[in-house]
Amino acid sequence: MTLRLWNTLDKKLIDLEPVTPGEIRMYNCGPTVYSDPHIGNFRSFLMADLLRRVIDQRGFKTTQVMNITDVGHLTTDDVADATGEDKLEKEAREQGLDPFEIAHRYEDVFHANARQLNLREAHQYPRATDHIPEMIEMVEQLIERGHAYVLEGIGVYFRVHSFKDYGCLSGNTLENLESGARIDVDERKESPLDFALWKIDEKHLQQWDSPWGRGFPGWHIECSAMSYKYLGGTFDIHTGGEDNVFPHHECEIAQSVGAGVGEFARVWVHARHLLVEGQKMSKSKGNFFTINDLVERGFQGHEIRYSLIANHYRQPMNFTMVGLEGDSKALARLRSLREKLESVVEEDDARDAALVEALDSSRQAFDDCIDDDLNLSGALGVLHERARLLARELPRGDAARDALEFLKHCDEILAVLFVEEEVAEDSLTQQQQNWIDQRQQARQERDWDLADRLREQLKGEGILVEDGPQGATWTRIR
Ligand SMILES: [Zn+2]
Repeated sequence: MTLRLWNTLDKKLIDLEPVTPGEIRMYNCGPTVYSDPHIGNFRSFLMADLLRRVIDQRGFKTTQVMNITDVGHLTTDDVADATGEDKLEKEAREQGLDPFEIAHRYEDVFHANARQLNLREAHQYPRATDHIPEMIEMVEQLIERGHAYVLEGIGVYFRVHSFKDYGCLSGNTLENLESGARIDVDERKESPLDFALWKIDEKHLQQWDSPWGRGFPGWHIECSAMSYKYLGGTFDIHTGGEDNVFPHHECEIAQSVGAGVGEFARVWVHARHLLVEGQKMSKSKGNFFTINDLVERGFQGHEIRYSLIANHYRQPMNFTMVGLEGDSKALARLRSLREKLESVVEEDDARDAALVEALDSSRQAFDDCIDDDLNLSGALGVLHERARLLARELPRGDAARDALEFLKHCDEILAVLFVEEEVAEDSLTQQQQNWIDQRQQARQERDWDLADRLREQLKGEGILVEDGPQGATWTRIR
């Protein structure tokens, strides 16, 4: 069976047919690095990781690219035109730091969390700030092709009326949008629906030179420019959370296709949103969880991973603490079966033909669920049922080895059974503590070079130092 996926663009299940036979190229919208990533962010990144693992397991040559949004984008980006407050700059102001410093810090946190949750490393993690020339080049192409225009001293806008397919992904066609009242009118724009490609704003803290004046890129253009650079103009899969469908992904399509680089992504896969205790996650309701929050409450990375992947990505997920505890127990049963099997493989019992056959059929059933639009709940059902039978009559020797092979096969996708328990956070060595103290001293003396060097030194040893209002804290990143 081939992998079937729900394509948001076609609004139906499709068989995944690679653009280039034997290869899959995939782009994932990654984190905006201005705060600790929360579990909703990771639900989408985990869905991308599951896809990556399935594609790898099916023998494709995979290229996975996940961007790092480290140019502050704006709180009202959901109205597509990039006005409003910049979250990265807001965080920088509140913490009294440079926005680049904020971005660096949270990029490290993202990678640390990704390791805790056992995400396979992407082939590239391009940063927006490293690709300003590529974005400028694409904006120039759009201007040249009549899809964008310059407003002197204000910026460059995409001319949505020039792109007839606008709305093809989200259903937000120009007709539908124009009948809606939610329009923030900037008289200077040709249409209130036109969105920013480049903004000139002298108050913005991150600025670059461009043919249109010093400024910063709109959010959407980074993904068009970076996917083109690393995956080409036509590639296989583009993922994100459902809140990315509009305007972000709709605008990406308009930019990439408008710039004439190719067809852009063929299959669009979106994870549904996540609720916590039945409600939209929000800091004010106290139901807002980052990965670090859950780790602090004593959950292991593989338990959090298991809980966040256990239901279908296209179903809204209701995350609860009780649910996480229940999932952790279910996972513990599987891991304890693994340990029991490992403890008896050296015994000299032979293979068992009936067991081999049963394991084969479970493996097939597991794969069929995965191929059916990543039906994780179905696949886990198959695994738990087989595990229950194995635990009831524990195979030994070579038969146990066969059972372990089955678990390993499932775990190439799940990545929760064969990961080791994380060692509890221990203390620092004297040397590491000295570096932290010296770094603190250096910061007080505003010796940023020395402070950065010490930070890098600590990072080399797997210690991530973060500066907060209460001084420096550290976490282990591996
Ligand atoms: Zn994106």
